[in-house]
Amino acid sequence: MPTIFTKIVNGEIPCYKIAEDDRFFAFLDINPLAKGHTLVIPKQETDYLFDLDDQLLADMNVFAKKIAVAQKKVIPCKRVGVAVLGLEVPHAHIHLIPMNSEADVNFSNPKLKLASEEFEEIAGLIRTEL
Ligand code: AMP
Repeated sequence: MPTIFTKIVNGEIPCYKIAEDDRFFAFLDINPLAKGHTLVIPKQETDYLFDLDDQLLADMNVFAKKIAVAQKKVIPCKRVGVAVLGLEVPHAHIHLIPMNSEADVNFSNPKLKLASEEFEEIAGLIRTEL
């Protein structure tokens, strides 16, 4: 049974896509802690990030870095926070969260409710910086 993230990669479930290459995929988190909150995943299905092969994990971080640099340029924020939870979706992923304070990356915070036009606009802004 493919994970929900594999279904996104395969286009079976819609997403607000940020970037893709042969091994990795990035898209906006549908329940964002902040505008621009992005998930980076390997296309290979592995439940836990730190079970990934060393080279894949290293390359995934380089892929994530490009996105974080683009986020920082188009979303007003002090830093792009990086978080790994994996409690909900059993497909390795890195959260990239534009933040101004530590409180912005508290996963107990209420999630933003954005209209699909806002998601599209944010995704478009980040994509144009890549
Ligand atoms: P966790 O596994 O605890 O790191 O959380 C999984 C994250 O995936 C949560 O922040 C969800 O909002 C996000 N998520 C779940 N389903 C989707 C989806 N279809 N599109 C975008 N983000 C999703």
